[in-house]
Amino acid sequence: MKILVLNSGSSSIKFQLLTMPSEQVVCSGMVERIGSEISILRIKTETQNIKEEYSLKTHKDGLQKIVDLLLDPEKGVIQKPNEINAVGHRVVHGGDSFADTTLITPEVKEEIMEFATLAPLHNPHNLQGIQVSEQLFPQAEQVAVFDTAFHQTIPVKARKYAIPNTFYSEYGIQAYGFHGTSHKYVSEKAMAHLKKEKSKIISIHLGNGCSMTAVRNGKSVDHSLGFAPSNGLIMGSRSGDIDHSLIFHLVDTLGYKLEEVNQMLNRKSGMLGLTGYNDLRDIQSEAENGNLDCLLALEMNAYRVKKYIGAYAAAMNGLDAIVFTAGIGENSSLLRKMVCSHMEYLGVRFDDVKNESGSGSIFEINADGSEVKVLVIATNEELEIAKQAYSVLSTG
Ligand code: AMP
Repeated sequence: MKILVLNSGSSSIKFQLLTMPSEQVVCSGMVERIGSEISILRIKTETQNIKEEYSLKTHKDGLQKIVDLLLDPEKGVIQKPNEINAVGHRVVHGGDSFADTTLITPEVKEEIMEFATLAPLHNPHNLQGIQVSEQLFPQAEQVAVFDTAFHQTIPVKARKYAIPNTFYSEYGIQAYGFHGTSHKYVSEKAMAHLKKEKSKIISIHLGNGCSMTAVRNGKSVDHSLGFAPSNGLIMGSRSGDIDHSLIFHLVDTLGYKLEEVNQMLNRKSGMLGLTGYNDLRDIQSEAENGNLDCLLALEMNAYRVKKYIGAYAAAMNGLDAIVFTAGIGENSSLLRKMVCSHMEYLGVRFDDVKNESGSGSIFEINADGSEVKVLVIATNEELEIAKQAYSVLSTG
């Protein structure tokens, strides 16, 4: 069975075409920087490594370009769209409705749209991916894999907000958690690496969106994102934790409209708000050239991660491993070092050389003999989505 996996993020679409259940990757790639002047499309097949530049304004343009390339007589990997049996979609918010992977129906799409109010940077792109894919692959099954599903095991004491009970019981207001597919994938890899039956792992997903999960014995027990993917760590353009009274001050005293505050917190804050850049590569090179705003933003970012590590080690009464993953976590040795320095109290002994030179889909960056392992693990949400989609389709 050939499954095309689409992971439509806020400024990128990652894709993989896999043969299942052998997990053989036919091709993989991504469109990056959608909406910027120059978008980059990369595709890797068994025989080719292609990088092309386009101006892709929307996710729809990006997806169309991917499909054109898959079908291209010279560079492509399929002859006809009907060679694709199923398309697995990453969907960020499944609320209370979806604890599991599901086949997409008109009702499922309606619910995904309803949850767009809770994940405005993601669910609309995810839904657009589904709609375009239904047009381009009309014969294929469409399957949704929800980021919220892995976090269903978080105990009520950690997921409920201390607001009047009716908001929880009547409206389902609680911390749902996100990036579940990635946290599940890397924490399972970490458990296999540790070779320990019982384990306490902190998984740190640092990409455009950022989050941390406390994973005890393979189950998510706490997580830094909440009701929507907004709080916790400092992200590309989202503030993460703030004091909510700031919102009332901006609206009631300074005269901002609520929608302006919403836009500001979700789209103009985080690393972008602090530096003018939301790509960490730009921020790092600016900091190296003496840009103090960029340096401070990096320090703030690492400090926030460090605080959550302390909190989750306390919540789990110990720690076996810290895992860094996603675009920043896998590539920024600088941020990893800033986070892990001065954590000897927790049993973390960091190795600078391994941090700079490590490579591959999993590598250790702790010193030999460190009580706590520090691992860099390449996330593979696409493979996880394909596995789950295959499992739904093969069990009916
Ligand atoms: P993701 O959402 O996982 O695709 O991560 C995207 C983010 O990863 C980009 O916006 C960059 O900030 C960051 N990133 C990607 N490559 C690098 C790199 N080589 N060094 C530092 N940050 C990177």
